[in-house]
Amino acid sequence: MANNCPECAGKMKYQPDIKHLVCQSCGLSLTRGELEVYWQKVRNERGAEGDAVDRAKSRRKEWLDWYSQSKKEKENY
Ligand SMILES: [Zn+2]
Repeated sequence: MANNCPECAGKMKYQPDIKHLVCQSCGLSLTRGELEVYWQKVRNERGAEGDAVDRAKSRRKEWLDWYSQSKKEKENY
């Protein structure tokens, strides 16, 4: 999977002369590191890992809501 094109899922072929993986279908060329970053980005957009990030964000928001709420309550007393 890691060697498939993140854009079109085509086969990526390593070109040693340019040190890039080149997609055989759409011509996208990336270094191995770039390909990994690209895949992470694609996965995040699709939500596999993005879910965890969103959950962490909403937890933080809940906490902030609770925090500002309890602060307000204290001010009222
Ligand atoms: Zn491609």
